[in-house]
Amino acid sequence: MAKVIIVGAGGVGNVVAHKCAQNTDIFSEIILASRTVEKCEAIAADVLEKQGVSIRTEKLDADVVEETTQLLRRESPDLLINVALPYQDLVLMDACLAAGVHYLDTANYEPLDEAKFEYKWQWAYQERFKEAGLTAVLGSGFDPGVTNIFCAYAQKHLFDEIETIDILDANAGDHGYPFATNFNPEINIREITQEGRYWEEGEWKTIPALSEKQVYDFPEVGPKDAYLLYHEELESLVKHIRGLKRIRFWMTFSEKYLTHLRVLENVGMTSIEPINFKGVEFAPIEFLRAILPDPASLGPRTKGKTCIGCDIVGLKDGKKKRVFIYNSCDHEACYAEVSSQAISYTTGVPAMIGASQIALGHWRTPGVWNMEQLDPDDFMERLGKSGLPWQVIDLPVVGEGE
Ligand code: NDP
Repeated sequence: MAKVIIVGAGGVGNVVAHKCAQNTDIFSEIILASRTVEKCEAIAADVLEKQGVSIRTEKLDADVVEETTQLLRRESPDLLINVALPYQDLVLMDACLAAGVHYLDTANYEPLDEAKFEYKWQWAYQERFKEAGLTAVLGSGFDPGVTNIFCAYAQKHLFDEIETIDILDANAGDHGYPFATNFNPEINIREITQEGRYWEEGEWKTIPALSEKQVYDFPEVGPKDAYLLYHEELESLVKHIRGLKRIRFWMTFSEKYLTHLRVLENVGMTSIEPINFKGVEFAPIEFLRAILPDPASLGPRTKGKTCIGCDIVGLKDGKKKRVFIYNSCDHEACYAEVSSQAISYTTGVPAMIGASQIALGHWRTPGVWNMEQLDPDDFMERLGKSGLPWQVIDLPVVGEGE
């Protein structure tokens, strides 16, 4: 039984709160803390109504390490689930170290002024977490998160050697707006407008943003245009999957979405460089975020499914083999269950399950870990039971005439 503090009351924080409340045998006490306490209170009321569980709320500015440490010392939770923004990761890790609390997040740390998608700042905490006897689990959302676990599962159970991995992320949901992002717009746009990057034969290769695409036939969703992007899980997977020759990440976008994005980019609205407008300093992307629909408001309007998975080629018993391990999730079913669309749902459920692995003692080795470094079996079992059932399908190996 663990006392948990969830930091961040956005789309993902909402799902984590509901999902922890569905597992009170593991999470005996739940606190939801965020900058705008009214959002925490609204979620707490919905959790009480839908799950019949009372959770407590706290106002917290997680940019201030002292305030965060004080809250953790006062409440002494067993673990902290960080589903605020990537900018808060290091402050929350510092506060966890100061107060002796295990840590888990869903996105790598980002400095405000640079879009890097790198783990180096958080990996630098390895020794401090080890010495403190605490566990930090990085990237326990869907991608990163479940995709890393799918790779770990494939390495453990399906292949003797993995050669190539293509991670594919399709969102075939329709919210009816001409343009909106499904999670935090700032993070989402920063991710898509950076150069594409993948890893092959021991080195990183860079291509212009959105310059390479394939049509991939997703189970339950159908054929979609998928574009090669850099995504943060690639950085850790190249270190931890043995024998890997190539890894790439693909995400689907509609032509309509890309046209809006190109216009916004061309007029400078996606820039993270601060400008001064009428005496006020801000980055244009912050303003864009303020005028786009709040991702949390998309839930009731979104119809359709997601499909995210790993297309893996490798060797088993001396033979080439190719599988697609995936989950498909229905936006409307998610909304009916926890008042959030599938993007928040597919992130929040794995955050809760990763936290359950710490709480149950399965993932307790002190240090800072990416998901594929941890045992996948109980996590995979709980995924299916917690609303994200997964499938493994065999695919023909390209070029072998099968
Ligand atoms: P939202 O923008 O909807 O919510 C973020 C929440 O964090 C808001 O409640 C916000 O408060 C709060 N917050 C921001 N700054 C602070 C602060 N300084 N102190 C306390 N609270 C703060 O984002 P999402 O819920 O969509 O995403 C949450 C996280 O999940 C992000 O890090 C995102 O990158 C990650 N993510 C990961 C995915 C994965 O698959 N791995 C997929 C999707 C998202 P306020 O309400 O005051 O603004």
